[in-house]
Amino acid sequence: MQLDACNLPFTAIGNSELGGWFEKSVRCPNCGEAHTLEFGTKRTMHTDGTWSDPVTCKSTAFYRCGNKTYMAGVGGRYLPGLEEA
Ligand SMILES: [Zn+2]
Repeated sequence: MQLDACNLPFTAIGNSELGGWFEKSVRCPNCGEAHTLEFGTKRTMHTDGTWSDPVTCKSTAFYRCGNKTYMAGVGGRYLPGLEEA
């Protein structure tokens, strides 16, 4: 399998560009409705080499509109143009 580096997704956003703090839902710029935010999970390795149970990680937030998933925020703050619903 070959990857074309020009087609890899890349996003850079400065702290000064981020919006307000996200909580539970976002006002969708596509349809105008409120969509519930979704978050990933993370696990940590114990000193005995076993993994912890997954816990919610709010470093990035996503939402679904129709059959697509969009990124809503990073570091607890909304991407430019998004806001809490
Ligand atoms: Zn929507």
